[in-house]
Amino acid sequence: MCIFCSIVNKEIPSSCIYEDDQVMAFLDLSQVTKGHTLVVPKKHYDNLLECDDETLAHLIQVVKMLAVRISERLNAQGVNVLNNTHEAAGQTVNHLHFHIIPRYSENDAVV
Ligand code: 5GP
Ligand code: ZN
Repeated sequence: MCIFCSIVNKEIPSSCIYEDDQVMAFLDLSQVTKGHTLVVPKKHYDNLLECDDETLAHLIQVVKMLAVRISERLNAQGVNVLNNTHEAAGQTVNHLHFHIIPRYSENDAVV
C-alpha cells in the first residue's frame, strides 16, 4: 500500500491545497516550515526517474505556480523546492513528490 496513493484516493485525510486531473498538493505532516507542501502526480510513480516527461512537465508547472502562491500568501522571503530520489538521498515515501518549503529567514529550517 502506498500512503500517497491513499491520500490521492481520499482513503486517508490530508490538507489538500490544490487538485486537478493529474496532480494533487497537500500540506506535509511534518511542516518543516509553515506552509510546507507536497506536490504529487495522481498516478503512482516510484520516483522522479520513473516519471514520463509529459507528466513531469505538468507537475513542475504546478510546483512553480504553488511556490509563487504559497510564498505570496505566507509572506515567505524564499522557497526551497526539492525532490529526494531513492533511500540514499532521503526518500522515505516511494511515490514521486516535490517538497515546497517556504523560507522566512536563513535559520528557519534545516533541509
Ligand atoms: P521524503 O523524505 O520521501 O522526501 O518525504 C516524505 C514526506 O512525506 C515527509 O516530509 C513526511 O513528513 C511526509 N509524510 C509522510 N506520511 C505522510 C502522511 O500520511 N500525510 C502527509 N500529509 N505527509 C506525510
Ligand atoms: Zn503511490
